[in-house]
Amino acid sequence: MDNLKNLRGTVDLLPDQLIKWQNVEKIVLEQLKRSSIKEIRTPILEMTELFIRGIGEGTDVVSKEMYTFLDRGERSCTLRPEGTASVARALIQNGISSNPLQKLWYMGPMFRYERPQAGRQRQFHQLGVEFIGYESVRSDVEIIALAWDILKKLGIKELNLEINTLGDLSDRLNFQNNFLKWLKINKNALDLDSQNRIDKNPLRIFDSKNIQTKKILENAPRLVDFLSEKSRKRYSDLKKQLEILKIPYLENFNLVRGLDYYTHTAFEITSGSLGSQATVCGGGRYDDLIKQMGGPSTPAIGFAIGLERLILLAGKELEAPRNTDIYIINQGLISEILAMDLSRKLRNYDLIVELDLSGASFSKQFKKANKLKAKSIVVIGDDEAANKEFTIRLFDKASTENKELAISFEDDITLEKWLINNLLIK
Ligand code: ATP
Ligand code: MG
Repeated sequence: MDNLKNLRGTVDLLPDQLIKWQNVEKIVLEQLKRSSIKEIRTPILEMTELFIRGIGEGTDVVSKEMYTFLDRGERSCTLRPEGTASVARALIQNGISSNPLQKLWYMGPMFRYERPQAGRQRQFHQLGVEFIGYESVRSDVEIIALAWDILKKLGIKELNLEINTLGDLSDRLNFQNNFLKWLKINKNALDLDSQNRIDKNPLRIFDSKNIQTKKILENAPRLVDFLSEKSRKRYSDLKKQLEILKIPYLENFNLVRGLDYYTHTAFEITSGSLGSQATVCGGGRYDDLIKQMGGPSTPAIGFAIGLERLILLAGKELEAPRNTDIYIINQGLISEILAMDLSRKLRNYDLIVELDLSGASFSKQFKKANKLKAKSIVVIGDDEAANKEFTIRLFDKASTENKELAISFEDDITLEKWLINNLLIK
């Protein structure tokens, strides 16, 4: 086993770490449920073609980051780098016209071949939400508010919402003509990556992290100045409605999502406490995607939250496990069987019950219960077994009031009363 290790950029999540993951997921899922959003699960593996068409060849994800391989049938397959293309495919394939309005979420691993660093992995996880068939600006507002509220519910501070609009296809073509002219003149001043994007995906140049490029771009034409009247109105409605909801935003005219199919609203939520990988949520409208993929023309908007970054941001209080409610100390042949039986009965009350399987001395078992901070203990030894009863008490050594109570294995009424009074079961 010496040299068997996980692949670079992948991580094991161990039980202690997963407590926080589970607590975070629980809060997120409750919020999604309250918003009437339903889950969808699509395969992790898809045909490579799906992502080339659904994300776009000129994007970083498709050109540099995909995990692609030939399967045994010589088909080109790719581990999904994001969720939207798969969701769109699944909807088209399963008959979108019979269900044209859908609010959906998904959660799971994504794969991108990137340089691993804090907040950036090769296998990471995303929670995504997609509103399919929704066109009005109210759906943009609802989805932004949802992302915002999820992050707030997790107690995350220092959040910044940045918004922009990319207009529709014709606004973008209008802008692009102008921008290309400007690029011709300014090409040599840009960094190499940006120069390479001129032919493939000029909009993405706005995404450059290069400081000099950023400075030069300050004088570039801005997409927002090329919007049609209708697109401009849509954007100002979005801002008005966010203001009514008291969701603070910043306009960032350089915010372009990398994917070809985005239209109108684009947004990102960043956190000041994340360091260089500051974006925790990215989203936007993609009215042209489903049609482009062969489905009926269907407006849609969605976002994805990176769960690793979300976990980094969520409060420490979510790291604490729920304590064991009852620790069952037991020893002796008959006692062990009675203890096993009782543990099953107690778990029916939705209590966390740990049955000690060690067969060790009572004092060792007590120590273990103590270490776990169990709220109460049950003791079953030879004497108890002979009397067909067990003893139960709150596990608080300091208190003398918590006297042991002996309860017969048959006497469910007394047991329930004790549980209601001491462990507050309902
Ligand atoms: P970035 O600028 O960080 O590369 P992106 O634009 O590639 O982000 P999206 O495709 O919008 O990211 O994905 C949405 C979210 O998923 C990101 O905001 C981030 O939180 C998370 N994410 C993306 N790539 C990774 C990764 N390699 N490791 C961990 N989280 C990631
Ligand atoms: Mg990226």
